[in-house]
Amino acid sequence: MSELVSLRRDGNVGVVTVDNPPVNAISNAVRIGIIARLAEAKADSGIAAVVLACAGRTFMAGADITEFGKFKSPGTSDVIAAVETLGKPTVAALHGTPLGGGLEIALGCHFRVAAPGTRAGQPEIKLGTIPGAGGTQRLPRLVGLEKALAMILTGEPISAQDALATGLVDEIAEGDVTAAAIAFARKVVAEQRPLVLARDRDEKLANVDRAKFDELAAGYVKRGKGLLAPMAAVEMLRNALDLPIEDALRREWDVFLELTASEQAKSQRHIFFAEREAAKIAGLPADTKPREIRRAAIIGAGTMGGGIAMCFANVGIPVTVVETSPDALARGLDTIAKNYKSTAARGGLKPEEAERRTGLIKGATDMAAVADADIVIEAVFEKMDVKQQVFAALDKHAKPDAVLASNTSYLDVNEIARATARPKSVVGMHFFSPANLMRALEVVRGDATDPGVLATAVAIGRKIGKAPAVVGVCHGFVGNRIQRLRTVEAERVLIEGALPHEVDAAMTEFGFPMGPLAAGDLAGLDISWSMRKAQGLRAEIADALCERGRYGQKTGKGFYRYEKGSRAPIPDPEVEQLIVATSARLGVTRRPIDRKEIVERLLFPVINEGARVLEEGIAARPGDIDVIWVFGYAFPPWRGGIMHWADTLGLAYVRDRLVEFAARTGDERHKPAPLLAKLAAEGKGFAT
Ligand code: NAD
Repeated sequence: MSELVSLRRDGNVGVVTVDNPPVNAISNAVRIGIIARLAEAKADSGIAAVVLACAGRTFMAGADITEFGKFKSPGTSDVIAAVETLGKPTVAALHGTPLGGGLEIALGCHFRVAAPGTRAGQPEIKLGTIPGAGGTQRLPRLVGLEKALAMILTGEPISAQDALATGLVDEIAEGDVTAAAIAFARKVVAEQRPLVLARDRDEKLANVDRAKFDELAAGYVKRGKGLLAPMAAVEMLRNALDLPIEDALRREWDVFLELTASEQAKSQRHIFFAEREAAKIAGLPADTKPREIRRAAIIGAGTMGGGIAMCFANVGIPVTVVETSPDALARGLDTIAKNYKSTAARGGLKPEEAERRTGLIKGATDMAAVADADIVIEAVFEKMDVKQQVFAALDKHAKPDAVLASNTSYLDVNEIARATARPKSVVGMHFFSPANLMRALEVVRGDATDPGVLATAVAIGRKIGKAPAVVGVCHGFVGNRIQRLRTVEAERVLIEGALPHEVDAAMTEFGFPMGPLAAGDLAGLDISWSMRKAQGLRAEIADALCERGRYGQKTGKGFYRYEKGSRAPIPDPEVEQLIVATSARLGVTRRPIDRKEIVERLLFPVINEGARVLEEGIAARPGDIDVIWVFGYAFPPWRGGIMHWADTLGLAYVRDRLVEFAARTGDERHKPAPLLAKLAAEGKGFAT
């Protein structure tokens, strides 16, 4: 077995190498190993300088988060102390993704050399906490307070070029980064360069524009919606200005421990793990391998087809989109090109990269163009006969081993598969709108879907940056099926006494970025209206709005009214009158409904339906439902997902409230699902 941390000599330079695949997570054994090897290097009089490097695909990419909450000594700060007190020049050789504790250790070295593709950052905020080993103190001393604020508050990594420009790294390596770091160390020794640790550098903190910092910080805190971690991170950065570093470091550690143990952080860790767990498909033969995807084809260049095509182009996979007419095709390709251009104009992409990606997407109006695609994703109208025609044509033109996927939102994937002579190759891939941005992806397993096809759909989903979860066939799969209960309940609370802005305020206060009614206005109320009509269903308020031509933002009126050119929802007395009149017509005496009740009325039935989805095996794990709802329906990640949230409330409480809701509404679906009732009776949660 290879050593986790080794020390070798390269002339007068000692090279400490961490080798803990896959990402060199800083486990306790790694920390012990680095400290031991540094001690050897310190004692070795033949070693004049030390390079800290990592084997494999990346420099230490962060803490071993399975150890979160059960810290063992020595900690990462002890590793940094060993680096800082070595008494010899130290150079970190960065490649891959030096993140979190990995970057903090590098910040303890005198110098940093990075490979060209390196992406370095402090992503702790994404797990509901802050850097805990000096990141909030050493980073601003190297890159300046504003840059550190941006890095720590967004959690987004920066490129090697950016790191060089801001002073985070001293050199970008040409060729092997360890060799470059060794050469750098040798130069430092030969030139007897002054050695100044990040902790002792304060030139970048000397002339900080405090007013500007406060303004920027307030913006981040506001976007963080009162979450604990962003507020704490700002406080720590202020400490960098106001406190001696030792005091600031102690405070950082205390706050880190407190935040890491908080419910918000636990929920964010839950969703982090749930996303990875969801990519593991239950019940596949051990030898199942995903197929390689070199080229893709998308059928339909509408809203979804265009977005899905961009997902492939974004990771360098060439795509062909197939449309029915040259006009429709030109419109679709034009929208894609405009999307890329506007991203470039906003600075999100380099113009040449936007052009390269646009160039990877080709168009065709003949189905024969799918012939060389390894995966074909259908995104045509949501009509069974249209989908079946497309799949029958794919049967003729697609390669024998191509994966044939449908982006249907509701339709029966098995029925679609029967239109081909190869139902084994057919799978659902339900993307969310806008498909180039939303990370949710329901991979729908049909009765005949081949394990390799399923594994391919999940693997390519991950490759294009999605958070795939495998689901079974049913109307609306997991996400839309459980969401429907929220929509129905939103109508009911309107009729019982709430107004649209009260419903939306309750839900945004809960943590959704937008209320469900404003979201309906954005998506267009006519879409669900026509679906309801097709199913013989009625929604008193929403239907009445549509009957008056109020389709939402596109007509300037929906649940709200909109000023010309504005997307800001304004409560509309006409809608309030309509709602009050509807209550009266239905014989309902309106009553005040508080925010807590609105949230529970809208979301507990969703949890209940989630329990049914689990009972029926439509979802394999409660965490899969959480992943779908966080990444597809903007459920607040710091609440961990809808099923996790239910666990934190206690299922007995959820059950009791559902019993009350069932009695109030007479809706049978609100009666607690057997699984929920059973777990509640046993005092358990979905996850335990
Ligand atoms: P859309 O109307 O914007 O686009 C559909 C496109 O398919 C049109 O451009 C049309 O010309 C093209 N088309 C129709 N028949 C075709 C054929 N035989 N060959 C090639 N192209 C054909 O619709 P959309 O919103 O992109 O939805 C597409 C699919 O995605 C539907 O199944 C829908 O349920 C699903 N979906 C939509 C959303 C959403 O929010 N819009 C979200 C998830 C899934």
